[in-house]
Amino acid sequence: MPLLTVERLNVVFTTHQGRVKAVKNVSITIPHQETLALIGETGCGKSVIAQSILRLLPGNAQINGRILFQGRDLLLVDEKTMASIRGKEIAIIFQNPSLALNPVYSIGWQVGEPFRIHQGVDRNQSIQESVRLLSYMKFDKPESAVKMYPFEFSGGMNQRVLIASALALHPNLIIADEPTQGLDRTLIKQIIEQLDRARKIHSSSMLLITHDLTVARSISDWIMVMYAGEIVEQAPTRDFFQSPLHPYSQGLLGSLPKNGFHPIPGQSPSMIENLQGCQFHPRCKWAKEQCLNGKPELLSLNRRLVRCFLYG
Ligand code: SF4
Repeated sequence: MPLLTVERLNVVFTTHQGRVKAVKNVSITIPHQETLALIGETGCGKSVIAQSILRLLPGNAQINGRILFQGRDLLLVDEKTMASIRGKEIAIIFQNPSLALNPVYSIGWQVGEPFRIHQGVDRNQSIQESVRLLSYMKFDKPESAVKMYPFEFSGGMNQRVLIASALALHPNLIIADEPTQGLDRTLIKQIIEQLDRARKIHSSSMLLITHDLTVARSISDWIMVMYAGEIVEQAPTRDFFQSPLHPYSQGLLGSLPKNGFHPIPGQSPSMIENLQGCQFHPRCKWAKEQCLNGKPELLSLNRRLVRCFLYG
């Protein structure tokens, strides 16, 4: 049985501008001890999936589908059970450490929080655990670091603090939502290596949400591509980078600097308007009549999935 299975997930937000269909009929499987990278442009629905799994969506969200984690449907369990799962069995690393960390609490207090909440340890014990975790994340002087505050650290150090906190209780599933956003290449490499090392030591699985294809390639077993709230392709990572099938995936790879930096023309459709046909057709050089009116299904090709009439 996979660790996590998301089945036919739909998420709609009611806003003053209309109904925003952020996630459309998305199904995801994450096997034990493997990493799935969910890639796509900002606003395509990736982070909404992460928030759905942890039931952290705001009150104006309507959600349906099933999210099976170790046999339990997370959309049906009571809030007390969900609170015991968050941070212990499923941990999330948010994309912006300056927002995720509380500026008025010390680093040691914040890293030690999972131990106080889930294991009932006292303040001193939780600080000791924080020292251990920061040491593990290669902080030079962890005993001093736990007494400091987020504003005294760089963005990269704060991101490592978030990773330390997320790994505290050896979660079965780590959700890393743009964990390298805003960091320079050297730091990105360090952080991704540390994250992957920790995941392997703890035998965790990971859902990595990123728009950075280099990061996704370096760490994942599977790639899943989202466009305008839909899954358009899924493949083993090596196969994906060798031969992306969907025209959007091909465009993403073509826009990398090493591939000549050819940006995909046009913009993603609004999540409010109801665009007929394939959601990518206004930007696709292969679009034909069928793509404007018909909706391509997700087709299975060997170990891959693709949503495009070119493969029908
Ligand atoms: Fe392009 Fe048509 Fe395939 Fe959509 S279905 S990606 S428009 S070829």
